[in-house]
Amino acid sequence: MRRAPRETLAFARECRLVEPERRPDRRAWFEAGAPTCAPDADPRLRPWRLALLGPPGVGKGTQAEILSGRLGPCHLSTGDLFRRSGEMQPCERTPALERAQQAMREGQLVSDDTVLALVRERGRCLHCRGGFLLDGFPRTLAQAEALDGLLREERLALDAVLSYELPLAAIAARLEQRRTCAGCRAIYHLEARPPARDGACDHCGGALVQRQDDRRETIAVRFATYSRETEPLRAYYAARGLLRPVPADGTPVEIYERTLLALR
Ligand code: AMP
Repeated sequence: MRRAPRETLAFARECRLVEPERRPDRRAWFEAGAPTCAPDADPRLRPWRLALLGPPGVGKGTQAEILSGRLGPCHLSTGDLFRRSGEMQPCERTPALERAQQAMREGQLVSDDTVLALVRERGRCLHCRGGFLLDGFPRTLAQAEALDGLLREERLALDAVLSYELPLAAIAARLEQRRTCAGCRAIYHLEARPPARDGACDHCGGALVQRQDDRRETIAVRFATYSRETEPLRAYYAARGLLRPVPADGTPVEIYERTLLALR
């Protein structure tokens, strides 16, 4: 792995946010084919190209938000893509997206073909000047191998795969308390990270809702799917020298600090 220049980490630790005009515009990810956002990346920051691994609810989305705000890479979440498609009118969805909605409701994975088609359509996002953070992708060995191929074609490489680690029992308790903004997708936790105003997002004022797949009955299915399909990716990336384990207990800021250490 390339080493982070010392000043990069020092800069990140100052907890300065990347200026809003330099933040990547996630619309290019949500609406494949939208004009490339390509903001001017902060010249003090290198473009990090990272993938986040870990069980559902371990806090990958929260870390992705923080890392994107501090280090500049665009947050590319396949789960957010599928949730967006759930907000479309049923007649706007393709049969593949309709099946994806069904899989999500049941806590199952969306088929590799559908996921890979969506990621390929958004290949330009991998060239984001600020770098990228893959959140929730890859999730199966087939997806990891396809990502390797895609990155090779694009002449890009992952810098690291951050593996957030916490026992599943601790995560189950967290998931039931998670709330997501229906507008901008910011993530809250009713105890650990509550919004300033009950039920409203601090960033955009949107309504905070519980994701359908965060309900208790779906969580067990999602954990079983994770253990069977995604857990093997840890060994896959360890064998390639890319895996960086990060203990995921504690506050989001503590986990972020450990993430920086893991990237060092
Ligand atoms: P997440 O927000 O990453 O937990 O994703 C929510 C749901 O979207 C998952 O439970 C899956 O149904 C679906 N999903 C997201 N990313 C993938 C992926 N890479 N492969 C298969 N299904 C996915």
